Amino acid sequence: MLAKRVDAAVVGRLIQKESEAFRARTPQSYRLLERAKHSLPLGVPSSFQDYPPYPLYVRKAIGARIWDVDDNEYIDFHLGFGALAAGHSHPKLVEVLRRRVAEGTMYAMPCEEAVLLAEELCRRFGIDQVRFCNSGTESTMDAVRLARGATGRDLLVKIEGSYHGHHDYVMVSVKPGPDELGPLEHPASVAFSKGIPEAVAAMTLVVPYNNPDALARVLAENAGRVAALIMEPVMMNIGIVHPAAGYLQAVRRITQEHDVVLIYDEVKTGATIAPGGACERFGVQPDLICLAKSIGGGVTVGAFGGRRELMELIRPGEVQHLGTFNGNPLAMDAGIVTLTEILTAEAYKQFEEQQERLVSGCQEIIERHELPMYATGLGAKGCVMFAAEPLSDYRDYMGIDKDLAYAHWLYLMNRGIFMPPGLDEQWTLCVQHTNSDIDAHLAVFEEFARDVTAA
Ligand code: PMP
Repeated sequence: MLAKRVDAAVVGRLIQKESEAFRARTPQSYRLLERAKHSLPLGVPSSFQDYPPYPLYVRKAIGARIWDVDDNEYIDFHLGFGALAAGHSHPKLVEVLRRRVAEGTMYAMPCEEAVLLAEELCRRFGIDQVRFCNSGTESTMDAVRLARGATGRDLLVKIEGSYHGHHDYVMVSVKPGPDELGPLEHPASVAFSKGIPEAVAAMTLVVPYNNPDALARVLAENAGRVAALIMEPVMMNIGIVHPAAGYLQAVRRITQEHDVVLIYDEVKTGATIAPGGACERFGVQPDLICLAKSIGGGVTVGAFGGRRELMELIRPGEVQHLGTFNGNPLAMDAGIVTLTEILTAEAYKQFEEQQERLVSGCQEIIERHELPMYATGLGAKGCVMFAAEPLSDYRDYMGIDKDLAYAHWLYLMNRGIFMPPGLDEQWTLCVQHTNSDIDAHLAVFEEFARDVTAA
């Protein structure tokens, strides 16, 4: 079936109308923003929280619900950019963390809970050893250092369009503009921020996703100089882009041929797409894996781990891995409860069933209204992609209909469906979502599809 083109004028009018409705029902957020701008750049703690029309300030969140400071209630599908597959303040977490808060949240000393959580992560992800840190950024930074220390090489390879946190070596070609890309065969290394030294950006080489030939070429051209390839096994910072059949196997073979450490960034996929993340789902094991977000149930925790020969290089005189808050008992408790009592086998079954309900429901609506879009999902992660044909890499993503995506976001937000800002994000399901939450989402999407195709 050929998708109908959506009329840009209709989309423009919808954006205008929905922006006005957004402003009308969120005056307290706007007031807070004006005040916040004096003490916080852009009025927000992270620039990812700055988005049009303006950020909502949140008052509280419980279960799968979230309330802004104007007391608007939403069903939360943003869920902390995917950090909350457990949902908000899960009763099991509340119970354990309440006790922990009363008994000390921070010792800067090892505790038994760190051992238990390490064992659970090793079991889930098929790795020998793990170290804790405090965020996704730290996990990729530490894994890259370990790979460099292990190989004695400096260069890093990453995928064009992927995000791995905010340290300098990976803040390269995250969202390069059309004039910056360079040829597909040799993408340019484009710093994502001022303040990243040119020499640092130049140490990160870039390859397109789903293109094993390009990877093989870059590794051959830089033979003996590349420490690691860091990649998301499923790209989840340009919507969701799946690995083509055989791609991950090819990446594994090529990196092995060049003695290059393969690092999976499973910060998003780790606890959400299967108990053992992409490692389990696709059956291709990397050398190192990076974890954060949903493993902590909403408490800040990160981890990286892998094969014993690599991880045991973390020792005096070899590779340093440090951090005052690493393995703090608050985060360790949160991780243990989340992974052993909340994200159980049953929870992953529920994710699959509810994701199927949401994705197939959206897809049916898209097809009935002949929209130039498609719906896709994996475990707890899903999204509508604003392109008629499935995307294969970042350059495909550049062609998505950004206005249509923005209209969709505004439309859902104004009707109580809380979605991550940015056109490159996806919804996350949590164990506290019900089928009626999914159906409420579908009902609003149906309305959107009807209005956006209205003549
Ligand atoms: N890797 C990936 C794939 C991510 O999506 C993110 C955050 N969106 C990070 C790393 C960085 O994690 P954090 O924000 O916890 O530093």
